[in-house]
This record gives sequence, C-alpha cells and structure tokens, in this order.
Amino acid sequence: MDCIAAISTPPARGGVSMIRISGSDALTLAEKVFFPKYPVKSIKDMPGYSAAYGEIIKNGRRLDDGILTVFRAPHSYTGENVAEITCHGGILVTRRVLSACIESGARPAAAGEFTKRALLSGKLSLTEAEAVIDLINAESDGSIAAAKAQRDGALHKRTERLCDDIRCAAEEITAWIDYPDEAMDEDEITNADWKARTGKICRELDGLIKGFEDGKVLREGISAAIVGKPNAGKSTLMNLLSGSDTSIVTDIEGTTRDVIEETVNIGDVLLRLADCAGLRTASDKAEEIGIEKMLSRIDTARLVIAVFDGSRPASDEDRRLAALLLDGGKTVLPVINKSDLTLCEEVFDLAKKLGEPVIISAKNGGGLEEFTNAVAMLCGVKNFDPSEGFLANERQRDCALRAKAHADAAYNALCNGMTADAAGVELEAALSCLYELDGREAGEEIIDGVFRRFCVGK
Ligand code: GDP
Repeated sequence: MDCIAAISTPPARGGVSMIRISGSDALTLAEKVFFPKYPVKSIKDMPGYSAAYGEIIKNGRRLDDGILTVFRAPHSYTGENVAEITCHGGILVTRRVLSACIESGARPAAAGEFTKRALLSGKLSLTEAEAVIDLINAESDGSIAAAKAQRDGALHKRTERLCDDIRCAAEEITAWIDYPDEAMDEDEITNADWKARTGKICRELDGLIKGFEDGKVLREGISAAIVGKPNAGKSTLMNLLSGSDTSIVTDIEGTTRDVIEETVNIGDVLLRLADCAGLRTASDKAEEIGIEKMLSRIDTARLVIAVFDGSRPASDEDRRLAALLLDGGKTVLPVINKSDLTLCEEVFDLAKKLGEPVIISAKNGGGLEEFTNAVAMLCGVKNFDPSEGFLANERQRDCALRAKAHADAAYNALCNGMTADAAGVELEAALSCLYELDGREAGEEIIDGVFRRFCVGK
C-alpha cells in the first residue's frame, strides 16, 4: 500500500503533536525527514515498538526536534509499517512536519484512512472500527465503557456465535436436501430439531435488536426535563447535578422563566438536562412563554424529573403537575426535595402516584447516590452489560433487522410444512445480513460510509 500521512493529534496548540505515517515504505520515508541524534544504525534497522530522539529536517532546514516511534507490520494500528513523529505542539510547526512528509512521498490521509487500513489488513472488524469513532466521541463513563467493549470485539464475538449457529443449521438443511437418506432417517425429529434451532436463532436476534435502545442511552445519553412548582428546588437540583451555578436560585417564585440546558454525567449516564419554568399560573407574558416551553420539553424529554417541595403540603400546582404527568405516559422520576427540613407525608402520597420517589436535599447534596441509581434504573442501563455486545448504530441495527426477518421466514417455512430448502435459503440470507453487519460482506459504499464519520489522522 502507498504511504499515507496525517496529523493525528487535535488541530490546536498543545504540548506535543503527532504525525503518523503508514505504508510499506513508511520507515524509508521517515528516514528522509527524521535524523536520529544519537547513533542508531538507521531508522530501517530500528525494531518495532522502539523510539529515537532526533531532528526533523527538510531541504537542509531544521524544522523541529522530536521523537520517532517505529511500529513494524503487522504489529501496528494499521497492520502496516508505521512511523510516528512527535514534535512540539505549535500548529505551524506541526503542519511543516506534515508537509515535509508529503514532499518526501507520502499522500495526505483521508478521514479514517488509518483505521480503514486496519480493517483491510484484518486487524479490526467493521463493528470494532465503528467503535473507534464512538470512543473518540464518548462523553460519559457509560459511553466510554460501551465503546471500549465494542472496540474489544464484544459485538463481533456475539455475531460470530450467531453466524456459527446459522451456518451450522443452514449446512445441515442443505446436506439433508442433497442426501436425505444419509443425513437423517426420521423426518419429523429432524424438522423439530431445525425448528428449535431456528427458533433459538430468532430469539437471539430479537435480544440483540431489543438491546439497541439501552445501548443508545449509554452512548448518547438521554434528554431529561426538571419540572415542578416554583421554589420546589429545581434550579438548586440542576446546579447540584451540573456542579455549577447555571440556574438562578432565589426564593422569589417564578425566577426560572426560560429553559436552561446543561449536559451532566449522572453515574454512567449522560443526561441532557433542561431546567424549566415552574408550573403555575403565569403572572406575565415572559413566564407564560417559559411555561409553554416547559410543556413542550415534557413532550420531548425521555425522562421527566418531577420535583416536589417536601417541606410543604401538596399544593394545587403539585396536583396539576402530577395529573399532567400521569396522563402523558412519560417515564417519570418523582423527587421529594428539602429532606434537610421536616418532611410532609401528604406530598409523598402524591409523588408515589408517579413512581417510587427519591428523597433528596438539593441544597446539601443528600440522596444524590439514590438519585443516580434511580436514573440508571429508569433509563434501563442498570442491568445492561455492554461487554455482551450490542448494536451501536442504525447501520448495524438495519442489518440485524433484515437478518431477523429472514430467520423468522425460515422458522415459518419449517412450521408451515414448506420444503426444507425454503428454510435453507432464508437462513443463508440471514447469514449474509450478519456478514454485512460485521463487514465481511459489506460493499465499498458501506465501508466508505462508515469512515466518513471519522476525523483525519485516525
Ligand atoms: P425553583 O424555583 O424550583 O428553581 O427553586 P430554587 O432552586 O430556586 O429554590 C427555591 C428556594 O428553595 C431557594 O431559596 C433554595 O435555596 C431553596 N432550596 C432548594 N433546595 C433546597 C433544599 O434541599 N433544602 C432547603 N432547605 N432549601 C432548598
């Protein structure tokens, strides 16, 4: 493969930058720009995983000094020979080092091209390559854990197992069709066995598809609206969760007139929080608009955090909110706030209608752990184990859905007494969809589509 080069660190000033060169001639090319200061025989003789300090020189001009790290095929990220030059982090210096590599014969790498080469050289499956970009984009502990599990092949292994099961079943059916007497004697037992095996394949595919939504919550987080009557403590809770003073906290009712947004990590989950205006009869136009916005937020939020002031008896506004949420069919987390004061039983009874209430003190942070657990439980991520493998994007889900449709058709063919080859054909088609999922049978267009999401240098 030809030599490609790119800056692999972010395009900003920093302590150091790294320029990556990959290709069979990467080390010969590195020799044209990098000159080790202390005698190593030559870069071409450097073993893999070794580094040298030296100067970066082009056309007799000293551009910088830095470190060269050598990786030898196949033990590198791309599976090819790789040279990584780490220089000082100035934007101009970094660009000059890259230009020197290009002048010396490398081609500028396209977005994701290093990872694409890793895929082509068999270092990664397509789902593992997709996990690399998810890892780069991860914004919460949960999304990092999910992307790492996928990067380590969790989905790849799960689809491999499924493919083995489907392949075995399809092969047996085909063998039976070709040699009915030799393969099996008892038709009925054979059919029952195939039905059981195909049914198991359908169930496994179903489980995979169902896990998509939980994985999505871990990867992308969820939108949550904090609602409640004025002075219930919504802004104080928002500030506690975000660790900043984004929302204005006062004891004057109606101070949060607009929707204030913040992205926060609650345990493993990324919450896109919106602190909304208090629900009450608006005293002016601005507050009215704020309340309208809150209502539309409740509509779009996946989770509604309903805050009640536990130190006061339930008011008409509390009852209105509860009625509104009970009607809306939303996932609601009722929160009784101000646990540092004497709590009022009556509010509990109202909050309980919405779900199991969590008792907190937004002011002093009491109950934060219970709140975090309740969020994880309601978002469905509490019992979700990413290391079992899950579908991480729409492309993968689409392949799994198509595989499931074919597996269902195979199962129905066996149940309806159709010829065995109908089931065999459908199982082969299901297998092909899973091969596409994992990249084994993915066309150029699909692979290019995956790598378009990447940045240059990865
Ligand atoms: P919002 O209108 O629902 O956003 O309510 P705020 O967050 O502005 O709080 C209203 C008042 O209640 C402020 O004076 C807060 O200091 C107070 N407050 C909020 N949370 C607590 C709490 O947990 N305990 C106590 N004692 N006071 C709180």
